[in-house]
Amino acid sequence: MRTASNRRRRAGRALLRSLLNALFALLAGASVPTSAQTAAGLTQQTVIARAAEVYATRLNDHVLDGDARFAARVNAIAATLIARARRDYPETADWAWEVHTTSDPDQNADCMAGGKILISLAYIQRLELNDADLAMLLAHEIEHAALRHNLKEYQQALLLDPRWASRPFLELEHAVDNDSGLMDQLASTNYEQEVEADREGMLLAWRAGWPAAQLAGYFRKMYRNSAEPRRSKPDYPSPQLRWQAARELAATLQKNYVQAPTEPLH
Ligand SMILES: [Zn+2]
Repeated sequence: MRTASNRRRRAGRALLRSLLNALFALLAGASVPTSAQTAAGLTQQTVIARAAEVYATRLNDHVLDGDARFAARVNAIAATLIARARRDYPETADWAWEVHTTSDPDQNADCMAGGKILISLAYIQRLELNDADLAMLLAHEIEHAALRHNLKEYQQALLLDPRWASRPFLELEHAVDNDSGLMDQLASTNYEQEVEADREGMLLAWRAGWPAAQLAGYFRKMYRNSAEPRRSKPDYPSPQLRWQAARELAATLQKNYVQAPTEPLH
């Protein structure tokens, strides 16, 4: 799904958690953006610190890990992918990765900057995802974070309109999710990020040991469950295109490699 998801409302206990997160971020040398911080000074550290703050707030909106079996299943699969990401993307080795589950029908899955994952049982049940499907979904989301997609989207917004540089970062964060004009301008960036997360996600999960053909099965289920499987949007490739790309990549991997190499294919 789209990486930017900072538009959640604040909940009661969020303030204390936010303050604690801000404190931890400060101790770790990162700065949580204040209303005074401009978008010009935006760094990956700041994006990660802000994501931790928003993630903590979002968690308050959910009953977390209520289905113990599902939570254990997700954690086991995510652990193999995170271990692989830590090897392939050195920056992620020190991240405070977190994985939580919910049963919220409005949530599907995402991984915020810095490795903060939230995934819904409702979505997994709706698509009847098996473990390999789930690995593909999680790997896609993990790649959004590992590839710094949030930071790159903000940087693209700054390129499109340099006036953002002197405005508060928190305003830019809001605009990226709510300003239809800016969202239109960023649509092609988001489209490319989805394609990249699909491709690199499959490679990540395959390097972690999952058979490529099984990983492609996730996109078949997405295609079959979609009301408009052939419809692409400016910021999103159609399920049909995603399934086709996944099939082709899986076929290439199976043809050219007996097993996943120990080093990344970048
Ligand atoms: Zn995505």
